[in-house]
Amino acid sequence: MKNILSKYPYDVSVIVPIFNEQENIEPLYTQIETVLTRAQKTFEILFVNDGSTDQSSLVLQRLHKDHKRIVKVLHFSRNFGHQLALTAGLEHCNGKAAVIIDADLQDPPEVILGFLEKWEQGYEIVYGVRTERKGETFFKKFTAAMFYKGIRMMTAIDIPPNVGDFYLLDRKVIDILNSLKERHRFIRGLVAWVGYKRVGVPYIRDPRMNGKTKYSFWKMLKFSFDAVTSFSFTPLRFISLVGTVFSLVSFLAILVIIYEKLFTDYTVVGWASLMVVVLFIGGLQLMALGMIGEYIARIGDDVRCRPLYSINEIWE
Ligand code: UDP
Ligand code: MG
Repeated sequence: MKNILSKYPYDVSVIVPIFNEQENIEPLYTQIETVLTRAQKTFEILFVNDGSTDQSSLVLQRLHKDHKRIVKVLHFSRNFGHQLALTAGLEHCNGKAAVIIDADLQDPPEVILGFLEKWEQGYEIVYGVRTERKGETFFKKFTAAMFYKGIRMMTAIDIPPNVGDFYLLDRKVIDILNSLKERHRFIRGLVAWVGYKRVGVPYIRDPRMNGKTKYSFWKMLKFSFDAVTSFSFTPLRFISLVGTVFSLVSFLAILVIIYEKLFTDYTVVGWASLMVVVLFIGGLQLMALGMIGEYIARIGDDVRCRPLYSINEIWE
């Protein structure tokens, strides 16, 4: 055990995804540094600049110049998204454990002390559980609650509710995650999937320190589609079920229609009701095709085997 780990020079790597966080980088750095120095750990902080278009790169440059032994920066060639930024961070970190944390100080760095304590007790995965979310809109909280409910209902793996991307992973877990090549990553799900001993540490999620959320509505939607399609076939099964029910009902209707045609003199009225049925079924079919398309598109993406992200520069 010791031997495997001895090739990793740091106790902890802190991985921070950065997408236009210019005002938050320095305060975050200071807090992480204080916390890990207090914990008496050797550490590196790996910032992954996910194609920021503000001054983040300049701020990172300054920080890297002043703290070369601690601060590493990975620059993407464009915005690849939060989950791929974390993926790159995990692939490039050199710690015996990694802590993933948002750049906006919504996840308080002091909580890392609690993470480290549990890690030292032998837990390979330690995740932060949000007991309260301050300063987030009703819409965000509501959609998040729905998301966690839905994903827990649809998947067989146990993804804990109210857990974001704020956790500590032991090297064993990092290595396994790094061996997964899937493109549409839902890292929380993968972390739940790998197994190992895990424990949650409760914390209160603060409001964002500066700037606004970098998760637009569309990014959130893509994120939840990735989550569902990576871990569940429930939508496809649901489509088959609905299809079967509709076929049965229409079969009965056909029998009735034939009977009426042959043995009664009802004439067909009701263009309106006919149109309603046609449009409804048409809509349902399109939705079903779209759902199948979501899965096929992801298979296509995975089959192409493109690299997950492209790196422009690394500052070590
Ligand atoms: N982020 C990123 N790429 C993106 C969107 C977000 O690297 O395309 C980073 C962002 O800089 C932050 C973290 O992911 O460090 C979480 O984003 P945010 O705080 O905006 O999400 P929220 O807390 O609102 O869910
Ligand atoms: Mg945030």
